[in-house]
Amino acid sequence: MQLTVVGAGYAGLRLIQQLAPQGFDITLIEPSPHHVLRTRLGAVASLRRPLKESLLLYSKLLPNGVRWIQEPAVAFDPDLAQVDTDHHSVQSDRVILAYGSTTAHLVPGSERLGLSTYTLAETEAVLAHWAKMQQDLEAQRCDPALLRWVVVGGGETGVALAAELVHLARRWRNRYGGQAGAIQVYLLHQGDQLLPGWRSVQGEWAKDWLLRNRVFVQTQTRVKRVRPGQLVLEGPTGTQDLTSQTIFWATGTTAQRLEEEAPQLREGGYFRVNQTLQLVDYPRIYALGGLIEAHSSTRTLQQADHVAQVLVAERDGRTPAPFVAQPDTPALSLGAFDGLAMLGDQDLFGTAGWTVAQAADSLYFNTVQTWNLPRLNVELRP
Ligand SMILES: Cc1cc2nc3c(=O)[nH]c(=O)nc-3n(C[C@H](O)[C@H](O)[C@H](O)COP(=O)(O)OP(=O)(O)OC[C@H]3O[C@@H](n4cnc5c(N)ncnc54)[C@H](O)[C@@H]3O)c2cc1C
Repeated sequence: MQLTVVGAGYAGLRLIQQLAPQGFDITLIEPSPHHVLRTRLGAVASLRRPLKESLLLYSKLLPNGVRWIQEPAVAFDPDLAQVDTDHHSVQSDRVILAYGSTTAHLVPGSERLGLSTYTLAETEAVLAHWAKMQQDLEAQRCDPALLRWVVVGGGETGVALAAELVHLARRWRNRYGGQAGAIQVYLLHQGDQLLPGWRSVQGEWAKDWLLRNRVFVQTQTRVKRVRPGQLVLEGPTGTQDLTSQTIFWATGTTAQRLEEEAPQLREGGYFRVNQTLQLVDYPRIYALGGLIEAHSSTRTLQQADHVAQVLVAERDGRTPAPFVAQPDTPALSLGAFDGLAMLGDQDLFGTAGWTVAQAADSLYFNTVQTWNLPRLNVELRP
């Protein structure tokens, strides 16, 4: 059976590594030379981990026999099961869409002003911003507006990033002294409680951690718009301006789009899929990961495993089973030594939570690297 896989992030790569050894004829369309460990980008953007630890070369990861077109897909035709790049047009028996998510720009002006850590390119822009700021701090001629670091969004990405920035600020105060003493970290969140989707006790714990570490946490605060060097905020006490030249958008992600796509295949920005993760009305096309919902990498990996099983069943003439999501085990690092995790009914705080987050990270890393050792084909759940 011929397969075209579009995107080799967490979903696409996992699927390829499962199916290539089983005799499937696979074409991958993926523009990047690197598989990006997105879950590490926050730690990279706050200079805790080097960028190279987040990048794995596909030339070393892809199983033998996979045909790799290193270009972005620009269009696909669900009737023909055909995907186009600028230089190629590929038709196959099945197409697996796995080109992931990108930053959702929900605040007017945020596309042009500020920084994010959702993609590799965005993270590289953050590193360039820090490099320039370090030069200015060294010379003690830094614009004060650069020293107010504002994270917008108190979900998982925003909370984790604010915690990482606490550590970065501490290191820089020690290293540069003088102006670096004026660094402030803000976290702005429009809801009542940080970490929506987590238990309230976890959100409270994260908030206390940040407050203890001198982060200015403002809940019930919505950013209405951004202008160069300034955020316009709306909160319980009315409208207020906040000056900053170092603004991080952690307001969430949205599914990627190709240049040419039929809009009726999506609802609310995400592809409409049935229980088997096939596009509604197009059973030869599968979609998974960040293209079908905003969720965690563990859920993405479950979906990839499921689609791999479905394709084997189809090839062997068996009826595929529907996708049944297993309970997720969310885990989140707050800097290098603390974290949060939910293990069933149990809440893990502090070092225990961080340990679970690190275990999940290492498990994914090791499994991606050594996928061809069948005995290490472990369940990817922290
Ligand atoms: C900053 C951050 C932190 C996160 N932290 C956690 C965490 O702690 N725990 C957790 O469980 N989850 C976390 N997640 C979520 C997790 O990263 C996603 O669930 C997962 O990456 C989704 O996998 P995916 O394969 O759908 O997309 P991705 O992993 O984004 O892969 C998409 C792939 O498609 C490629 N692509 C893009 N456009 C095209 C195109 N036009 N043609 C072909 N290929 C294309 C890209 O190059 C990429 O390789 C985090 C995400 C981010 C952004």
